[in-house]
Amino acid sequence: MSTIAAISTPVGTGGISVIRISGENSLKIAGEIFEPVSTRLAPEEMEGYTCAYGKIVSDGEYYDDCVLTVFKSPRSYTGENIAEISCHGGIFVTESILQLIYSKGAVPAGPGEFTKRAFLNGKTDLIRAEAVMDVISAQGKASSRCAAALRQGALFTRINAVSVKLIHLLGEIGAWVDYPEEDIPEVDSGAMLETLGTAAQELEMILSTYDCGKIIREGVDTAIVGKPNVGKSTLMNLLSGCERSIVTDIAGTTRDIVEESVRLGDIVLRLSDTAGIRATEDVVESFGVKKAGEKIETAELILAVFDNSAALTPEDIEIADKCAGKNAVAVINKTDREPALDTDYIESRFSRTVYISAVKGEGLQQLQEVLTDLFKTDSIDYNAGVLANERQRSCVRNSLNALRESMDAIKQGYTLDAVNIIIDEAENYLLELTGEKASEAVVNEVFSHFCVGK
Ligand code: GDP
Repeated sequence: MSTIAAISTPVGTGGISVIRISGENSLKIAGEIFEPVSTRLAPEEMEGYTCAYGKIVSDGEYYDDCVLTVFKSPRSYTGENIAEISCHGGIFVTESILQLIYSKGAVPAGPGEFTKRAFLNGKTDLIRAEAVMDVISAQGKASSRCAAALRQGALFTRINAVSVKLIHLLGEIGAWVDYPEEDIPEVDSGAMLETLGTAAQELEMILSTYDCGKIIREGVDTAIVGKPNVGKSTLMNLLSGCERSIVTDIAGTTRDIVEESVRLGDIVLRLSDTAGIRATEDVVESFGVKKAGEKIETAELILAVFDNSAALTPEDIEIADKCAGKNAVAVINKTDREPALDTDYIESRFSRTVYISAVKGEGLQQLQEVLTDLFKTDSIDYNAGVLANERQRSCVRNSLNALRESMDAIKQGYTLDAVNIIIDEAENYLLELTGEKASEAVVNEVFSHFCVGK
């Protein structure tokens, strides 16, 4: 396999940049460009897990001072020999050293290629490998905790336990089917159903955490809607803790949709401020109004804002009615003012209503509680291993379907070899999930989402 190299730190100016070289020739290449100062040993002679201070020099030209860390196969991230050069974090100096490494025979690493090699060399299963990206991209405590548990193998262990049970059962059935002349007892269908039933139950439990995990990881696509001047922008600014969209007294000044993410407790809201629903002649504004209508249809969460200090208008009613049956929360704003709103009507249209004063910053806690309750984000145990992506979900779902099918087949009195084939299919989906039996295309697809240098 080729020797690969890439910059593993973000491209930009920083204190330190790390260039990683992995493969058979990594230490030899490092030896050609690294002049040790703190040791007499050449990189190839250094022990694994040790480092040396020195200079990067080639053809008499000095590049930078650096620290070289050596990892020896198989005890490294990729399982191969690795040389990691920590140099000064300038874009130019780092790029120059990388080019120098390429000129000595290394090739540029593809996206996720270091982790892919770790997987191919048996250093990690596919679920743990995927969790590397989740650790990197986690935006909050909950998503970071989820990813850390996956890195620790929480989900792998659960899936593997089911998989081992199925393999055992397949062995028993297989022995009976393949050696009919031997005196092997037929597998009891009651016992089979019990094993399959428990396996199915465990997969169902794992599946049930998917939606919640997705919210924790990716956030909720949220629309803040309401007629002009109810306080949508003020609420949005309160949520984001900064002046994001222009707040003014002139009705309908928030013209386009502004998007940003804010975190409320464990939940990340991907917010879009909208122009509000209002019949208008104004071309620019009607563009915004149209988008707001679309948003109500497509958003995963709607925060419908109403003005506590003004009487209910036909526009409010239109919004409330449009929100019916959606994942919507009525946010009654301006509670610091004399109430004039018919809140009974609003409450009758929404399953959840929150009272706030956006200018005073009151009511956010209640909003957070309502959202936690709505998305049940406090009901899952992140440490138990939550499905991290659609690939994992579809493997579990397909496996579960096959398990259910196998149970039906047993109940309908199918032959054991027919049942065996269906259970085998269920098992194969689990092996695809952990990567023990994933096709090259699946593996390539997984790592294509990684960044270069990881
Ligand atoms: P939008 O058109 O729905 O985005 O409404 P804005 O956020 O621009 O707010 C319209 C006006 O209402 C501004 O003058 C805000 O200062 C005011 N406002 C917003 N929230 C509150 C509130 O909780 N209490 C009071 N008294 N005024 C508010």
